[in-house]
Amino acid sequence: MAQTLNTGWAVDWLRRSAAVVAENRVMLIELDREIGDGDHGENLDRGFSAIVAKLDEESPATPGAAFKLAAMTLMSKVGGAAGPLYGTAFLRAATAVGDADELDSGLLSAALAAARDGVVARGKAEVGEKTMIDAWTPAVDAAAAAAANGLSPAQTLAAAASAAQSGAESTDPLIARKGRASYLGERAIGHRDPGAASSALILQAAADAAAGAGA
Ligand code: ADP
Ligand code: MG
Repeated sequence: MAQTLNTGWAVDWLRRSAAVVAENRVMLIELDREIGDGDHGENLDRGFSAIVAKLDEESPATPGAAFKLAAMTLMSKVGGAAGPLYGTAFLRAATAVGDADELDSGLLSAALAAARDGVVARGKAEVGEKTMIDAWTPAVDAAAAAAANGLSPAQTLAAAASAAQSGAESTDPLIARKGRASYLGERAIGHRDPGAASSALILQAAADAAAGAGA
């Protein structure tokens, strides 16, 4: 089992993210229609399709370059709250990995933490406020624990993805305190946060790409 992931994994993650966002576009639109304005699936699909178009034209040299390409594309193509938040997440991940060619579990876990910290710096959300942070923070904690226990990159990302999914599910009974859904008060109860749902899908794509890479 490989102990590191490379640029091929990073590119595969982005391509798998685009595929899973496209497959779940309607689901994400419907979640956002319940507690927002219905554009989340459309926004992300546009952004990740543009990432795939760029990856068809240019080959990033490092995982960090792939994350930076994703960040720039998401920031320029995706409006609303999620574009700048996801863009910041990928940009911080790019900075965290620097120009490394290979990412081990520790560096992957640090990159996820940096991504989450970027979303917090930008959106100021805490866990329990019914945002994508409710998926990201458990994912970061699970990845840190997995890396500290010497698990492989694929196992580390699988732990993160599974925690993100539980985290997304944990938003169902919450009242939103940030973003558009916060205007709804108690009417947001019983609905899953769309950004938490998309974050879980994207982190699962990272784990699937790692499993595919035999890491
Ligand atoms: P908009 O709300 O502008 O229509 P999107 O629908 O694309 O943007 O994204 C909505 C998602 O963005 C929410 O489901 C939530 O997860 C996330 N979000 C909104 N505000 C914040 C924030 N301050 N911090 C973290 N995430 C946020
Ligand atoms: Mg929206």
